[in-house]
Amino acid sequence: MDRFTDKVAVVTGAAQGIGAATALRLAVEGATVAVLDRNTPDDTLALIERAGGTARGYVCDVTDRSSVQAVFDKAASELGDPQILVNNAGITRDDLFFRLTEDDWNAVLAVNLTGAYHCAQVAQKFMVAQRYGKIVSLSSRSALGNRGQANYAAAKAGIQGLTATLAIELGRYNINVNAVAPGYIATAMTAATATRVGMSAEDHQKSVAEHTPLGRVGQPEEVAAVIAFLASDEASYVSGQTLYVNGGAR
Ligand code: NDP
Repeated sequence: MDRFTDKVAVVTGAAQGIGAATALRLAVEGATVAVLDRNTPDDTLALIERAGGTARGYVCDVTDRSSVQAVFDKAASELGDPQILVNNAGITRDDLFFRLTEDDWNAVLAVNLTGAYHCAQVAQKFMVAQRYGKIVSLSSRSALGNRGQANYAAAKAGIQGLTATLAIELGRYNINVNAVAPGYIATAMTAATATRVGMSAEDHQKSVAEHTPLGRVGQPEEVAAVIAFLASDEASYVSGQTLYVNGGAR
């Protein structure tokens, strides 16, 4: 499939995990990909190069508006104006609410929600000018509520509201705006959660799998495939939606 030939895609938080899998998937299907992360995304670039794709890496902290603007401008001049944005950068700082610090509240909101606001607002200017765009943001199953994740749940529920609203405002410019809400995906983020609760990543995954209808946890590539669908013209009449990718868990 070559769904993204002649398209430029920006994927944030793409040095590893779901972002890396998404950058790879878009590149394999023909996109030129700007791989953004606060860390140098060399591993992702190497993966894409090995797969025969085209990508360039940019160090960018999505919480810093001027960094976001500068990197989008640089990527646009080097790769072309972006048609696709995947707001993937995210962090967790879990704790029970009664002891959740303001620092941890602010940090999680800043990356997961304000970061998406920064990138979407900068990206939409390029998209409106082209009368074409696709914005896909990472929500989470935790948006429905998850013990120890008041900050993260609020940010990921915020992504759903942001998505629904941008779809209304940007639809007239032929811009589709959607979100995916994964359940438990095997990445460094969930491995860190396992460590925090004193379990190995494997045992943690096994215990989650027992409560998941499909009987296993998800893989980054399975989320990337859904993001690619929403970023493609196959989803041309889908906008304002949040699609759960969670193995059937309620
Ligand atoms: P990872 O932690 O594996 O990857 C996230 C990447 O984003 C890391 O490279 C991280 O860098 C980077 N990042 C963090 N903060 C910033 C920032 N301020 N600016 C730019 N990049 C940043 O996470 P996942 O791949 O697991 O998750 C990707 C997205 O999917 C996140 O939004 C997450 O909330 C969401 N999600 C994940 C689920 C899962 O089960 N894994 C479930 C539901 C949603 P660093 O390593 O330095 O933090």
